[in-house]
Amino acid sequence: MAMSCDHPDLLPLDEALQRLWEALPAPALAEVRAERDDPATDRAAMDGVALRAADGVAPRRLLGTLFAGDDPAAFTVLPGTAVRIMTGAALPPGADAIVPVEQLVAGADGIQPTVRPEVGDHVRRRGAQARSGDLLLPAGTPLNVAREALLAQEGRPVPSLRRLRVGVASTGDELVPDPAAHQIRDSNGPMLAALARALGAEPLLQAALPDDPPALAAALQQPGDIRILLTSGGVSMGEHDHLPRVLADLGARILFHRIRLKPGKPMLAALLGDLLVLGLPGNPVSAYVNALLFLPVALARLEGRAFPDPWRRARLVAPMKHKGDRPLLHPCRLVDGQLHPLPGKGSADLVTLAHADALAWIEPGGMEAGAKTRWLPVV
Ligand code: AMP
Ligand code: MG
Repeated sequence: MAMSCDHPDLLPLDEALQRLWEALPAPALAEVRAERDDPATDRAAMDGVALRAADGVAPRRLLGTLFAGDDPAAFTVLPGTAVRIMTGAALPPGADAIVPVEQLVAGADGIQPTVRPEVGDHVRRRGAQARSGDLLLPAGTPLNVAREALLAQEGRPVPSLRRLRVGVASTGDELVPDPAAHQIRDSNGPMLAALARALGAEPLLQAALPDDPPALAAALQQPGDIRILLTSGGVSMGEHDHLPRVLADLGARILFHRIRLKPGKPMLAALLGDLLVLGLPGNPVSAYVNALLFLPVALARLEGRAFPDPWRRARLVAPMKHKGDRPLLHPCRLVDGQLHPLPGKGSADLVTLAHADALAWIEPGGMEAGAKTRWLPVV
């Protein structure tokens, strides 16, 4: 039976995550060519002795030891001789094989292989990985951690690994430090700053913004030295939810607004020049859930890492009713690897969230006890 859909315009969560990923630039590299042969000489791949394979299992007299970084010209391996060698050391002239420590016996006449060596045994051949001048990475290749290691090996400058700066600005006239009964404290700001820090970014927690379009526009136009701005509130359907219009008036490119998720439907993402604005919903659990989903994707993309997959899988121990047409992320306790739904009171309920280990994905229509589903760890 087809699920009835009250919100046909809402973007499914996984499409929204993908859209954000594709809208952001990954750091790209200029062409990288091999500076020299890799390896630049024949090298030992094991700790052992360097010798001539043709002498078979006959005893060898030891001439000395070569460590990684030693100049191998100190020794010449002639028939009947060998040089002790450590992993990474260059092969001395005359040697054509390494016999590892595990295959050697010591005798009165020196050392003796227990296994007949073959030419090239345990040798990393000069140029086996690349030849000098080979194209290693074409221009435009996105940077990742593995490629940073290759850049370092080739003597190329490694782009700075500065932490990305993430601004955090809550919105709402009701947010005050010392609230009367009709006011509240700003819980989203500290929560978002903590999340950004936990994800390796450098958060900059700003003062909460008023529900005033000129003030919002001014803050968006002068964000300071930040790459991502996390706002919360002001993206829903209320008369004070000005952020979408203010962003549109400033010429921002709206990536999406409103997604198929409960809680967190009003979620907005926009690019204002190079600045990524993640307009999180104001309700604290909605802001938490969406930040947990979208911020890692943005950071991974901008830092040149792979698309993150935070989902784990487990079974529900109890049935979950869910009448809505949006998938639900519901707080649960995780006991013995199984999801125990908590009696949550919705998108403003930080008390339940603070007792949860997991947010379980509940399909529209609900799920049976024993059903396997995906879940996110609560951080
Ligand atoms: P809004 O989307 O701005 O209408 O906010 C939705 C709900 O979240 C309202 O009840 C707000 O008072 C609440 N809210 C908004 N911002 C915050 C915040 N920074 N901390 C805690 N609650 C907030
Ligand atoms: Mg508000």
